[in-house]
Amino acid sequence: MSGGVPRDFNDLITRIKAGGSINCRDCSDFLMAYLESELPADIRTRFEQHLAECSACRVYVETYRTTVKLAQDACCPKANPHLGRMPPDLVNAILSALHKPS
Ligand SMILES: [Zn+2]
Repeated sequence: MSGGVPRDFNDLITRIKAGGSINCRDCSDFLMAYLESELPADIRTRFEQHLAECSACRVYVETYRTTVKLAQDACCPKANPHLGRMPPDLVNAILSALHKPS
């Protein structure tokens, strides 16, 4: 695991490897690692199984992916490759703004 991964994340991986199920809350914790291809293969498979069964999480993943891409484009990733790693707080702030009922 590379740096910057929260400790809770590793606890979650351990729990799922031990046979625990993935719920929607776990999905939001996995999302960034999933999109950066940092999930172990077996966890990734379990995550994708949940996505296949859960339309809410599929929509969440797509929204997140689009948000990160827009932010990367805006930040000129060629000049600043590290800007591709958005702080989760920022992403969550953007997502909650998008989902705010109007
Ligand atoms: Zn779900």
